[in-house]
Amino acid sequence: MSTDDKLAMGPKDGVTYPIQVTYCGNCSMPIEYCEYYPEYDKCKQWLEKNLPSEFEKVKIGDDNPVEEEKKRQKRGGKGMIKTKKKEDVPKQVCVSRAPRGKKKSVTVVTGLSTFDIDLKVAAKFFGTKFACGSSVTGEDEIVIQGDVKDDLFDVIPDKWPEIDEDLIEDWEIKNVNYSYI
Ligand SMILES: [Zn+2]
Repeated sequence: MSTDDKLAMGPKDGVTYPIQVTYCGNCSMPIEYCEYYPEYDKCKQWLEKNLPSEFEKVKIGDDNPVEEEKKRQKRGGKGMIKTKKKEDVPKQVCVSRAPRGKKKSVTVVTGLSTFDIDLKVAAKFFGTKFACGSSVTGEDEIVIQGDVKDDLFDVIPDKWPEIDEDLIEDWEIKNVNYSYI
């Protein structure tokens, strides 16, 4: 069989077609070509009478292309806003020492959730690591009962390799610098 024979339209004797094609009784073309036929309205009438299920498809395609496009654009817009919001949060961990009583101090860690770290798991880890009290005290804040700030620059990157030491900010130094300006 030559390529021309394969591509020729219309049914042929003795040829089994891989795809079942439905032919229009009005224009005798496969029904997907009806819309190019000058008497498309008559084709649709024929479809309505003889192939109501195919007629429904044609009707939907004809009536709502603009509406469908609008819906798609709305959905796409919402999705983009959601994605952007997440990336806007800068990934950084802050550690600082806060005075507690005359000689004691606590260490405050913030920003762990920007790395998608479970704060409860992290608080428990710090408590075990430093053998002291440690608890989640805010939406993205852990307070460790003890002065362990300097150790955190080694401990945090060890535990969570995605947090580089450079991504841990020492808020105390920052605050001191600011007070001299
Ligand atoms: Zn037709």
